[in-house]
Amino acid sequence: MSTRIIRAACPHDCPDTCAMLVTVVDGKATAVRGDPDHPNTAGVLCTKVSRYVERTYHADRLLYPMKRVGNKGEGKFTRISWDDALSEITERLQAIATRDPRAILPYSYAGTMGAVQGESMAMRFFNRLGASQLDRTICATAGGTGYKYTIGAKMGTDTEQYENAKLILIWGGNPVASNLHFWMKAQEAKRRGAILIAVDPYRSLTAEKCQHHLALLPGTDAALALGLMHLLIRDDLLDHDYIDRYTLGFDPLKQRVAEWTPQRTAEICGLPVGQIEMLARLYGETAKRGDPVAIRLSYGLQRVRGGGMAVRNIACLPALVGAWRHPAGGVLLSSGDNYPKRSNQMERPDLRPHDVDRPPRVINMSTIGDDLLSPSSASFGPKVEAVIVYNSNPVAVAPESAKVAQGFAREDLFTVVLEHFQTDTVDYADIVLPATTQLEHADIHASYGHQYIIANNPAIAPLGESKPNTEIFRLLAARMGFSDPCFLDTDEELASQAFDASHPHARDFSWQQVSQQGWMKLDVPVAPFAQGGFPTPSGRCEFYSEQMLRAGLDPLPTYIPPYESVASAPELAKDYPLAMISPPQRNFLNTTFVNVQSLRATEGEPHLDIHPEDAAARGIVDGDRVRVFNQRGELLAKARVSDAPRKGLVVALSIWWKKLASDGRNANELTSQRLTDMGRAPTFYDVLVQAERAQPS
Ligand code: SF4
Repeated sequence: MSTRIIRAACPHDCPDTCAMLVTVVDGKATAVRGDPDHPNTAGVLCTKVSRYVERTYHADRLLYPMKRVGNKGEGKFTRISWDDALSEITERLQAIATRDPRAILPYSYAGTMGAVQGESMAMRFFNRLGASQLDRTICATAGGTGYKYTIGAKMGTDTEQYENAKLILIWGGNPVASNLHFWMKAQEAKRRGAILIAVDPYRSLTAEKCQHHLALLPGTDAALALGLMHLLIRDDLLDHDYIDRYTLGFDPLKQRVAEWTPQRTAEICGLPVGQIEMLARLYGETAKRGDPVAIRLSYGLQRVRGGGMAVRNIACLPALVGAWRHPAGGVLLSSGDNYPKRSNQMERPDLRPHDVDRPPRVINMSTIGDDLLSPSSASFGPKVEAVIVYNSNPVAVAPESAKVAQGFAREDLFTVVLEHFQTDTVDYADIVLPATTQLEHADIHASYGHQYIIANNPAIAPLGESKPNTEIFRLLAARMGFSDPCFLDTDEELASQAFDASHPHARDFSWQQVSQQGWMKLDVPVAPFAQGGFPTPSGRCEFYSEQMLRAGLDPLPTYIPPYESVASAPELAKDYPLAMISPPQRNFLNTTFVNVQSLRATEGEPHLDIHPEDAAARGIVDGDRVRVFNQRGELLAKARVSDAPRKGLVVALSIWWKKLASDGRNANELTSQRLTDMGRAPTFYDVLVQAERAQPS
């Protein structure tokens, strides 16, 4: 019996990017565990990925290419050979490309976060083809844009330092479910005497364990940050030296926030004045004492109309109190820009054809519903005739789901899906191609939560006839006659091109070394902005941003109300008076893992969390089936009556596969395709609904 331990990386859309050890016995993976030597992973994987072996060998794995035999959406397929699958895809794509290659659209996101199996060979293929480009906005671009206007880049406090903070503000996220290793640091800080404060409309598993919880109205985080700035200035809880040396625009900021009195802030946020005063006092006084105060900012709060501005406003706070002076102070939204990624080398945009008659066309993945239903026009360009989906499940995850499904149901749309399982999107495919999982291919990973490069070595042979994404696009490139040498790069060669080894952060990076050792830490200074040096145009933390002014935005922090709230849309709220958010279920990761029986069994069925007063007003009792609806659609869920959501809010933890819910629907039936103030991102948490007891069927 031969037993091997393989160094691997968790590929999922989670900031923790764990270093994993895979046990392989006689060619079969038998266990995955966290690498105990990796400082961030510390030997711990979350429950979801601890079940990775169950997922890999799941009886429902797609193991062979398949062709549709039923109607679109029915999910009826017959097995075909790779040769036949590639021939049919090539024939269809060539015919479309002859008319206009921009009618072909790639659709992908973070099904794997790997630099190799993500956008490397795939993007080389689509760039060479001249396909439409995809604006990958679905998760993080609103907050990322707002953060970058203020701080200059997506970088900040090192997660490993949070255990030394004396106050941690956990804003807009639930790390117990979706940033576990940060949560472990926060718990350690708490044991050492730190105060943890959650800001979240919902009393999540995280908020329950913090000493303080501010349950503000969804979409009002920007207002809370403005109110905090007002109080820090009013009570002179400022680091004047830091402000003078390392920030830009303090005087206009001071004028701007003068109107954000605690009373006004409280009214907009739906919070007691005393809570806002308490938060400002704790944050400002802890910093004034010279103790580190840190904010962990997550993406939940930026899924509303003013989401970019909200992140920008919060990102101003550390500079006001001089929190950046400490390694354990500051703020972190994402650590992604610490990595010297060689995206151009990996994706080769230089391969795009230059055709003056066909300027590049970009399609926003967050409006895929409308875009699949758009006819050809001068402004839109050619109608989308083919979609190649990989690393994503748009029929379940994209907003305004009914339109997305309607688009994918078009008989004249040619759809190819690369997948592990028969997801909601696969049901609409013309051709399905079986993709390998993380245990079956090589990859290399950056993280958006820590500062390590993590290698993923293949642990087992591909199951069935599955192939890595890279290999599928290599084969397609060959069939299409693309002879550029870059299409011959192996996965290991791609991994070795992923980061710039001459950059000070990743000096001497080599795939060979990292694949053997499993990981390497970037050489990033602790307390990166202790003496300013922000990567903004001015080199300062920009309270005032010329870039924003040029982009047509308010150059100063401000508040942009939600599209849909009782205050901002009172007419709509007469019919749909409840705000709805749909944050992640603890045992799912987007739609990954929903089909793993043991994890789905833990979550049971789709629930709607509703406050007792809202439930009573509707005659709803705990356990009732409820119909949740708005002008876009409806779904059924089981009511869970508790005061975890604030009054006026309902919570549909997500993201369920539609076909695994009793009514074939999920929360995205109710979300809209309207976009954020910056970053062209979706507004998943900017939704009004109504709820009622469902009629017995
Ligand atoms: S999902 Fe996150 S916490 Fe879980 S193993 Fe992957 S990186 Fe680690």
